[in-house]
Amino acid sequence: MVGAQCDNFKPMDDLLSRTRAAVWHPCTQMKQLEAAPPLAIARGEGPWLVDADGKRYLDAISSWWVNLFGHCNPRINAAITDQLGKIEHVMLAGATHEPVVQLSERLARLTGLGHAFYASDGASATEIALKMSAHYWRNAGRPEKNGFVSLKNAYHGETVGALSVTDVPLFKATYAPLLRHTKQVPTPDARLAEPGESAEARALRCADALEAYLAEQATGIAAFILEPLVQGAAGMAMYHPIYLGRARELCDRYEVHLIADEIAVGFGRTGTMFACEQALTHGIRPDFICLSKGLTGGYLPLSAVLTTDSVYDAFYDEDTAHGFLHSHSYTGNPLACRAALAVLDIFEHDEIIANNRIKAVEYTRVMEEVSAHKRVRNFRHLGMIWAFDVTDAGPGFANRFHRAALAHGVFIRPIGSTVYVMPPYVVDAGAMRQLADALLACLDEPGV
Ligand SMILES: *Cc1c(COP(=O)(O)O)cnc(C)c1O
Repeated sequence: MVGAQCDNFKPMDDLLSRTRAAVWHPCTQMKQLEAAPPLAIARGEGPWLVDADGKRYLDAISSWWVNLFGHCNPRINAAITDQLGKIEHVMLAGATHEPVVQLSERLARLTGLGHAFYASDGASATEIALKMSAHYWRNAGRPEKNGFVSLKNAYHGETVGALSVTDVPLFKATYAPLLRHTKQVPTPDARLAEPGESAEARALRCADALEAYLAEQATGIAAFILEPLVQGAAGMAMYHPIYLGRARELCDRYEVHLIADEIAVGFGRTGTMFACEQALTHGIRPDFICLSKGLTGGYLPLSAVLTTDSVYDAFYDEDTAHGFLHSHSYTGNPLACRAALAVLDIFEHDEIIANNRIKAVEYTRVMEEVSAHKRVRNFRHLGMIWAFDVTDAGPGFANRFHRAALAHGVFIRPIGSTVYVMPPYVVDAGAMRQLADALLACLDEPGV
């Protein structure tokens, strides 16, 4: 503690220089950290992040879309603490435990799919769904069905397999030589509708393009993977639910699995527990669903892939190699499962989906002034997500807006020229008002 004896010693500056020296931050050009230091967060409280100096920031994007019920939620804390006194972790090959069984049973009831397979993050869930799908076709005697289709501008994670079906050039181009070739079909993103074309017509036209591709290539295709209703990393691109129903029909007709990547949109983000429920007219059931992010309320890394009985049955055999021999060390971690069970309890007990519906109407009203701002176009909203594009956003806009918002006590990270808000569900009207005022101030700030 030599530094502490010095009068002008600032613990926060010290932490920032140590993080620059020791930590390689994600999705960050480290050279830019000097000019734009990260927030040094000391603690959290509901939707608020508190830095080392006690300054509070509204976590307007739920810490990369994971947090649902606030930071340091007493109920989730209690569940994890209780589990800590029992068993922190045991491998899930050759052992099982109550939290993982209970979570699997409850996720099956919620999704209509079963046989939950676990990993630790979203990208691994994508990998698992892709591998399971291709392996299913192999077990079914059709090994040539091993290709994948995804949407233009899709995001499914950044490990090598997941990156193959991701379509974000900034993340993908550099690693192109490492990746498997996959097909991207047109995105139903409503912003890309032709003048005079409705979101629904756009979605139907894109479904026709999917059909044209599958009609020709389905014999070599294992699965079509998509983010239902909202393509998050594409800039909260929203599309008409009719696309989901058409995708389901086409996948059935051409014998291609449908993988719903609900990693970002699951657990109530779009207004229903899962986005697939909004497909016209009764929702659709995918062949695989990928879950993560909100699954533990933003507490611990956990992901799950659930699938149909018919997929599961194709692996059930005397032959070991017919089984799904995939594993991660922390598969089904009991602490993470307990956090997830606490999250599901909160959903049920507090009737979160119904209450969010009321909140969403109120918060959309709060955002009205933002939507009417002269720099704002394509204002869009679904469930607990609000987004808009900034007409005159030049290069570096996202970073400038981020810094400007910090000065107003809001932690927000635009994607390109898209500003989006995706707060923890515990946010109240007062905080939303502060958020809307901060957005307006940033939009009006010269040079942002
Ligand atoms: C975040 C995300 C992933 C990847 O999850 P990680 O935990 O970051 O690996 C995959 N798909 C979608 C739709 C996501 O938003």
